[in-house]
Amino acid sequence: MNEFLKKINEYHQIVIYRHIRPDLDAFGSQLGMYYLIKDNFKDKRIVIAGKRDSQLCSMFLDFDENEYCNDEKTLGIVLDTANRDRIDGDYLMCDEIIKIDHHIIVDHYGSINIIDESASSCSQIIVEIYHQFKDQLTLSKEAASALYKGMVGDSNRFLYRNTDEKTFRCAATLVETGISIEDIYQELYLKDEKELLVTQFILNHYHVNNGVAYYILKDEDLKGLGISREEGSNYVNTLSNVREFQVWMAITENKVENNYRVSIRSRSIPIDKVANMFHGGGHALASGASLDDLGQLDELVRILKEKLNG
Ligand code: AMP
Repeated sequence: MNEFLKKINEYHQIVIYRHIRPDLDAFGSQLGMYYLIKDNFKDKRIVIAGKRDSQLCSMFLDFDENEYCNDEKTLGIVLDTANRDRIDGDYLMCDEIIKIDHHIIVDHYGSINIIDESASSCSQIIVEIYHQFKDQLTLSKEAASALYKGMVGDSNRFLYRNTDEKTFRCAATLVETGISIEDIYQELYLKDEKELLVTQFILNHYHVNNGVAYYILKDEDLKGLGISREEGSNYVNTLSNVREFQVWMAITENKVENNYRVSIRSRSIPIDKVANMFHGGGHALASGASLDDLGQLDELVRILKEKLNG
């Protein structure tokens, strides 16, 4: 951990990365780290990397934009990203990389790797880093708000299994800065009536095969419902908490990549290794994958059922 502060001190230019197809924790940890450095090291040029086409952007991207300078030594901090392929942005320009992550390790690409697979979110790890250096660093409301969104996003409001006493200690630190969690929950969870129609569509069309439940949203369905592919995946937990379903999935057509994106969730049986078999990975109970076409779906369901049956 001491190495971490040493590296921040060493570089003037720091680029902060997260994964492609960003979720709340990807943005939360990225912006949380941005503010933590900006608020405590006044002279740094800090650049936020990654595409800005996600609908989650508006909840986070209210900061001073910086362009990076090509001929300056650069420290990259990559957050919430298990492997190089999923880094959003050109990380090859960095002289050194610090990886901070909570996914199952597949690639130690950093020169410093701060990994805690048991952490409920990457944002939580950033708060733990702050705890280590509490005497030297301040934590602003901006940083705390981004990190809180990341924490509730990945733990599903402190519901998931890896929520533990460390998670609540970190949440307490964030709340102590004076952020309004009521405002944050409104921002995250208030929905439009349109979302009820998507839920209705899913409930009318989902499939179940021996404990494995899933819905498919083809491109024409996404267009008909007026949502993006990414938004279509975000409804995966519409099928959660059903006694008969051990595993549930959202399958959404990706016209750009000419494949189907799969979000897999499980109540108790680890499914990350199954995701690895379909160009994916993630966490034991929450992983992402992709199918080249729907012809591969039977195979995916067959393997998941095999896992369920031990
Ligand atoms: P998703 O279903 O896309 O929400 O992904 C669930 C979790 O798995 C998230 O933490 C993602 O960051 C992670 N994940 C998704 N796809 C991959 C992948 N191809 N490799 C590694 N982790 C992934």
